[in-house]
Amino acid sequence: MFAEKVRLLKEKGLFRTIKDRDCFQGTKIKFGGREFVNFSSNDYLGLANHPHLIEKVKKTLDECGYGAGASRLLSGGSRLHRELEERVSQFKETESALAFNSGYAANTGIIPAISDEDMIIFSDELNHASIVDGCRLSRSKTYVYRHRDLSHLEELMKKANHSQKIVVTDTIFSMDGDIAPLRELAELCRSHGAFLYLDEAHSTGVLGEGKGSLSHFDMKPEPWIIQMGTFSKALGSTGAFLAASSDAVEWTLNNARSFIYSTALPACVAAASLGALELVENNRSLVEKLWLNRQKLAEGLLGIGCDIMGSETPIIPIRTGDVENTLRVSAHLLEKSIYAPAIRPPTVKESRIRINITAAHTDEDIQRLVGALEQI
Ligand code: PMP
Repeated sequence: MFAEKVRLLKEKGLFRTIKDRDCFQGTKIKFGGREFVNFSSNDYLGLANHPHLIEKVKKTLDECGYGAGASRLLSGGSRLHRELEERVSQFKETESALAFNSGYAANTGIIPAISDEDMIIFSDELNHASIVDGCRLSRSKTYVYRHRDLSHLEELMKKANHSQKIVVTDTIFSMDGDIAPLRELAELCRSHGAFLYLDEAHSTGVLGEGKGSLSHFDMKPEPWIIQMGTFSKALGSTGAFLAASSDAVEWTLNNARSFIYSTALPACVAAASLGALELVENNRSLVEKLWLNRQKLAEGLLGIGCDIMGSETPIIPIRTGDVENTLRVSAHLLEKSIYAPAIRPPTVKESRIRINITAAHTDEDIQRLVGALEQI
């Protein structure tokens, strides 16, 4: 049965395989002995191998050992987990914060925990799979609104007038690189007495001088705004956080199954995330460099006539038409020693090459990519 299913996937060009790197993750990566310039990583600030993070991990390993041994609610927590949460709540200017093992675990834990059968969830159609799964796991009815379409959202919210509501959105959309219209979303939520749940996975360390999307829009946290973000992308570490009111955090800690029933992150991972926050807060030039590189690449791509599909951020998709053509572009880039994978259905409706530019890329890397694309 599975063999036939796999054959069909291959026939449609939708079969995926894992590529094992022969080296560290960075702007240059090696597969099968060949080196490629890497445009596929979410390590936006180039922190994944930063000496400060590595030093923090080594020191903590020596002091605390590795495995956490149990979930935080049993005995797996350490003072570093707590310190990390305190730092996150200062960084995000919220009353409280809670660490999760991954962004996927955060969304699939928090969303079901904060919603119930009396609530209606409104979810942007391009939200990340972990949000979609969080909504599926919740006992709430979910209405999906057209991507960033405020009138569609309002229409759906009016229909559900008597229920408790929560609007759920990515703040930077992971496959399109556009930004959610936060001011307008917050206004709608305010007028309908709804909660607003923000997935800051790609905004943390990127928007608002690194602090995220509220800061980008010059907005302040509110008790009805619930933010989730990850340490795994611009912060170069692993894990995720909830940043919200103390009440929301306490409730989640007691109800999110992915938190309660999962072994805590090793303390050295919490230490690395702490180190990354220190770097972002004390060194503005990191985020500035990211945006400078983003500008250079976007100008280069637009200059050769690429359609960057409305990207506003370091995630830059390039429209490539059908699956076949997308695979052809990706293969051409590979030939030119550039790794920028094809993103295909079911991850997205429309196939594309997704470029992620980081602060660590050089002008030469950018020119190489633009030059290779220009040839086709
Ligand atoms: N939310 C979004 C928007 C994401 O892009 C991702 C990761 N691709 C996640 C959540 C999950 O984060 P993690 O990789 O830490 O599980």
